[in-house]
Amino acid sequence: MRICLYGRVSTDRQETQNQITQLREFAFTQGWKIVREYVDVASGKSSDRQQFKALFAAAAKREFDLVLFWGLDRFSREGVFETLKHLQTLTGYGVGFRSFTEQYLDSCGMFRDAVISILAVIAKQERVRLAEPYGAALTHPASHIDHWIRLQRNGEVSKAMEYEEQPRGRVVYDGREQRFHLMADRCILRRRDVVAGIMEAMHLPDDTTLATDDHYRCFWCLQQIFNRERQHDEPDAE
Ligand SMILES: [Zn+2]
Repeated sequence: MRICLYGRVSTDRQETQNQITQLREFAFTQGWKIVREYVDVASGKSSDRQQFKALFAAAAKREFDLVLFWGLDRFSREGVFETLKHLQTLTGYGVGFRSFTEQYLDSCGMFRDAVISILAVIAKQERVRLAEPYGAALTHPASHIDHWIRLQRNGEVSKAMEYEEQPRGRVVYDGREQRFHLMADRCILRRRDVVAGIMEAMHLPDDTTLATDDHYRCFWCLQQIFNRERQHDEPDAE
């Protein structure tokens, strides 16, 4: 079997070397052939890690059959949901995984399905636990402004663009109605293709309701409202 190693360390060289040495020895005892070693010296909180990304690019091309990593917390610390997604992505590529320190985390092992479903349950609970109230509903805890700052920092949006120019929205879950609401700016709700894209990307059920509120008004929406009110204020102006 062709495998790759994945290691992640904060800054300590000694630690990296120990991890990698033990992983190599383990692979040897299993009779596995190491085709590549990926080591990131970075925080595990984001998947924006160079070697981590390279690993997934190679996995997509099936350059190895299995990823051997030190432990789940070394593989990813983005939270259970993201971690689960990464493992499922590997599985989707037909690439297995094995944790050195957590023997039950083995895509070839007999507990594989059980472990995956337990992770999925934890991920769901974690999402609910992290969710924040939005009126009577629950929503994702991240703030739009933080996300915006990140997008600008990464150069994904022009630095010249103002936060208010970008139409926003969020998905909330109403526990009493047991229904999702897609709350968004009118500019978003007007566009059927955009709404359909959001529904698909977020795996929203068909009974999701679309709604807007005063909170979601971009610069252009506000300008329209302003113009309408001005027309209203000056009915005799000619
Ligand atoms: Zn708008």
